[in-house]
Amino acid sequence: MKNDNTLTSQDLTDINSEEFSQAYQQFVKTADLISLTRQFEQGLAQTGRDNQLSFNVKEAKVSLLDTGILLVEPENSEQPSKSIVISSGIHGNETAPIEIVQQIISDILAEKIQVKHRTLFIMGHPVAMNIAKRFQTENLNRLFCGKYKDIAPCYEKFRAERIESYVSDFFNADKSSDVTNYHYDLHTAIRSSKYEKFAIYPYQGDKPWDKEQLSFMAACGVNTILFGHGPTGTFSYYSSANFKAHAFTVELGKVRPFGENDMANFQAMTEKLTALVCDEDLLLKDFDNDDFNLFEALGDITKVSDNFKLFVDDAASNFTDYPVGTVLSTDTGEEYCTTQLGESVVFPNANVGNGQRAALMVVPTTLS
Ligand SMILES: [Zn+2]
Repeated sequence: MKNDNTLTSQDLTDINSEEFSQAYQQFVKTADLISLTRQFEQGLAQTGRDNQLSFNVKEAKVSLLDTGILLVEPENSEQPSKSIVISSGIHGNETAPIEIVQQIISDILAEKIQVKHRTLFIMGHPVAMNIAKRFQTENLNRLFCGKYKDIAPCYEKFRAERIESYVSDFFNADKSSDVTNYHYDLHTAIRSSKYEKFAIYPYQGDKPWDKEQLSFMAACGVNTILFGHGPTGTFSYYSSANFKAHAFTVELGKVRPFGENDMANFQAMTEKLTALVCDEDLLLKDFDNDDFNLFEALGDITKVSDNFKLFVDDAASNFTDYPVGTVLSTDTGEEYCTTQLGESVVFPNANVGNGQRAALMVVPTTLS
């Protein structure tokens, strides 16, 4: 594996090589996209539909666009149309989402389920998957919306650019006005959470939060929602802001190694995503505030100087709340003190650079 950030075309896999051809044929037979993706971690030299790595299953065409990037298109799409991205492994050690995506792909290739909407499946970061780490050099989920352009060459820079182009081609392929776009970016969290599963709803600007989407999240087993408070470089924000996709970053519990996930814990998520791509009735309940823990952002605790001290334990669960008047951090000439009832901390991390966010502060909210 290359660490020196000088990825060249020689590192990419020639799809005409004997090794790749055999592995690809094996994938067509077994549907094991995890193995294929891990075997050719850097990427393919020939990408997109021009590489002709396509085959048919019952009434659908399956195309491998690149390592970990699989497009499924129904042949007969007279239904009201949806374009759906289901992504996983943007952080390589977050295995449960990768296994969820694998499960749905296995069911499609085994013709157990019938895809009715164009769907792009993504296993985002094969290099990090292989080293069982969140990332190699840079956090991939901060590099979207072109932010990869601002960093030095590394695998994540390369991969973010490629993933953006596949997602952009995917959503742009069908721009008819009756197509609705969706993107569910599945993650697991580093730390434990007071609420095991939660989703971040990307900042919508003037657009209202979509209650039907919240009901969909609840049906997936995710009833804690954090409303985004500004533009970011996350993958879900990229699809939301650029392609008007209904999008979420979904946190499904704690990180575990491959094979150690209790997949029963993700059954609702797998079933509802399957129902969505198969155009089955989603059986959603009407939105009701009482069914949710909704949070809005209050602001960041930012590390300003080397004197910064964060009084939130590194092991503190996400959504831990503090009484009003609790000092949570001090820095040169300033401190952060809680002021709101139910004020809670998310993603605390004292080990950040000066000028970076050390924690996000949130408060409970409801939708009218
Ligand atoms: Zn993640």
